[in-house]
Amino acid sequence: MMSAMPNETIKCDIAVIGAGPAGYSAAVYAVRAGFSVALWMGPEPGGQLTTTNEVENFIGFPEGILGPELMERSKKQAERLGAKLISGSVTKIVKNENGFALESDSQPGQARAVIVATGAVAKWLGIPSEQKLKGRGISGCATCDGFFFRGKKVAVIGAGDVAMEDAETMSKFAESVTVLVRKPESGVRASRAMFERAKNNPKITFMFSTEVDEFLGDQKLSGIRAKNNVTGESTEIAVEGAFIAIGHRPNTEPFRDLIECDEEGYIKAQGTKTNVEGIFAAGDVADRVYRQAITSAGTGCMAALDAKKYLESKA
Ligand SMILES: Cc1cc2nc3c(=O)[nH]c(=O)nc-3n(C[C@H](O)[C@H](O)[C@H](O)COP(=O)(O)OP(=O)(O)OC[C@H]3O[C@@H](n4cnc5c(N)ncnc54)[C@H](O)[C@@H]3O)c2cc1C
Repeated sequence: MMSAMPNETIKCDIAVIGAGPAGYSAAVYAVRAGFSVALWMGPEPGGQLTTTNEVENFIGFPEGILGPELMERSKKQAERLGAKLISGSVTKIVKNENGFALESDSQPGQARAVIVATGAVAKWLGIPSEQKLKGRGISGCATCDGFFFRGKKVAVIGAGDVAMEDAETMSKFAESVTVLVRKPESGVRASRAMFERAKNNPKITFMFSTEVDEFLGDQKLSGIRAKNNVTGESTEIAVEGAFIAIGHRPNTEPFRDLIECDEEGYIKAQGTKTNVEGIFAAGDVADRVYRQAITSAGTGCMAALDAKKYLESKA
């Protein structure tokens, strides 16, 4: 059993950093493999799913489940099996002769292996009407929420591969898809092939050099007031859905001096293994492609099993 006074160092076999689907799943597998596990929950216990309503694609819930409820259940499961949950964030990982020291804004830790499952946050435009209508027509995930916009007119905001993929995804559900691109056509960042495919899709229309001025609607999104940043002309587009696809920011800032990350900050992992032996990565923090709750839970499981193998090899 682990016990510690406030601010006393928590000693465990496996430290899990992050309380989203990846972190909870890793904790469940690690305790069931017989290890002592401490999990730091960070600034958003429950992770990204606490910011959404209905989750319809997590297997095992035929009627769907609310995101916060799914995460509350995951937390209870990890706790019931014996993981120690700690409020607060890990601010640094330092390698030492016993494994890894974890510095924290709450309780520090000492672990033999570490699983980093700190997730990522979607970038938003940052205008007040966006904040007001988030979850009421405005979404950061077409794969997650596209289904709710069957037969409706929607917009996608962005110009990278994810924006093109979101536009393609939405064209399967929506009546029409308008892609708003801040830059002129020559400034589209997406790969040529994806851009061409989207341009050739009869349901998708592009508006270049166009920025969102305001999202319109009171209780629900009803449209977008957009401005052409070359001519200054303002247009209102009637849409019931808007997908913000301007990128994600992985939560890796505190670890970048130790763990190798790519240019956008995603952890570079081979499977779940990072460049540091004994540190594993799971979930969105190392995944720029799938970014789903179920894939995060899956890689959480993989990280725990990899950590088990690593610790057994050291025994
Ligand atoms: C609005 C919205 C709707 C979505 N809908 C769906 C859906 O319907 N279906 C689906 O499959 N996916 C959906 N997703 C995607 C899904 O939420 C993510 O893929 C998933 O949550 C990623 O899990 P994760 O555990 O990797 O990270 P996250 O859920 O991002 O959790 C990260 C955790 O790390 C913690 N943390 C961060 N930094 C630190 C630190 N320094 N120290 C300690 N802890 C830290 C945070 O507090 C948090 O608990 C949605 C996402 C959003 C934003």
